[in-house]
Amino acid sequence: MELRLTDLDRPEGFERLVLAEDASAGLRALICVHSTVLGPAAGGCRMWNYANDAEAIADVMRLARGMTYKNAMAGLGLGGGKSVIIGDARRDKTPAMMRAFGRAVDALKGIYYTAEDVGISPQDMVYAAAETRYAVGLSDASGDPSPWTAEGVFRCLGIGAAHVFGSADLTGRRVLVQGLGHVGLSLAEKLHVAGADLIVTDIHTAALEDTKTRLEATVCAPDEVFDQQMDIFAPCALGGVLNGDSSPKLGARLVCGAANNQLATPGIAEKLRARGITYLPDYVVNAGGIISVASEIHGTGDAWRRERLDGIAGRVAEMLTRATAGNCSTEQIADQMVEQMLREASAA
Ligand code: NAD
Repeated sequence: MELRLTDLDRPEGFERLVLAEDASAGLRALICVHSTVLGPAAGGCRMWNYANDAEAIADVMRLARGMTYKNAMAGLGLGGGKSVIIGDARRDKTPAMMRAFGRAVDALKGIYYTAEDVGISPQDMVYAAAETRYAVGLSDASGDPSPWTAEGVFRCLGIGAAHVFGSADLTGRRVLVQGLGHVGLSLAEKLHVAGADLIVTDIHTAALEDTKTRLEATVCAPDEVFDQQMDIFAPCALGGVLNGDSSPKLGARLVCGAANNQLATPGIAEKLRARGITYLPDYVVNAGGIISVASEIHGTGDAWRRERLDGIAGRVAEMLTRATAGNCSTEQIADQMVEQMLREASAA
């Protein structure tokens, strides 16, 4: 069977939801374009062993909408989209599958740019890019986005610390980094250089041993995060970590990390605020990676990428001022800022 694209029904507010199938390449994927109001949609491709199509559809739509907000806030001239390939990345992924996925992206004629996400490596993008110029985040172009994400989070952490503790100086601040992957490890290294007192955790022990000695960190078990005494919590693992059970136990006064969708439900932001905890919205502070990828899409240079990265911290400072003045959460302020941008662009 050749590649077949089917437009699926989608809720109001979403522009496209496409099922891409190529049986001979083993591909079953969904591409969701949430908004192109601010420019072509951009967002990574995730490969995951979803239990069924409904689960994959819910995930791709939630992620695509999130990219609209992230890209708008970072001032990238890009809309929001995302794709998911259904399958086990370790077992099912092949170069032929990634090439078929590249053909599916190409068939959308540039309304969507794809890049790496969970389960998809830079090499996979090279296969996809053989079929489309709308696959980005390539090693020989903008390169690994993770260091850019870590740098953006680190800078926001300083802004947040100045707001909460009255000083951006992190010397002696107890910071818990959850997840020592591409972003978390790079962030932990920066925090160590800045003099922070690190607590680290990961479900894989190899990264922990090295970090413990090299970064003089205390290690805690993954399920003991919310028992720790800390000033700052930096979630850099998976989403949903702050939920109805965990957030009342959190001992930190500031939350600033790279993980996407840290709040299990939007109401958690308000609950944290009521406990005197400042939460910096994940999609604002973790935009460094997509900024780097956007520089590849637009063909802009390193100066453009650095300027956008500098902009993240400025926006966080503005959000904190507005949230304090308005007696509301930074999450609410961030959403309002993006929604206003989208309204103005739609009306123009
Ligand atoms: P990664 O897969 O390299 O690292 C994640 C780490 O978290 C792994 O070491 C994993 O073992 C660990 N982990 C998973 N579950 C855990 C748990 N319950 N407790 C402790 N550790 C756990 O991923 P990454 O690229 O470093 O991204 C980290 C997070 O940041 C993800 O949520 C990702 O979506 C988000 N993010 C990443 C980027 C980027 O540029 N890489 C950009 C924006 C957002």
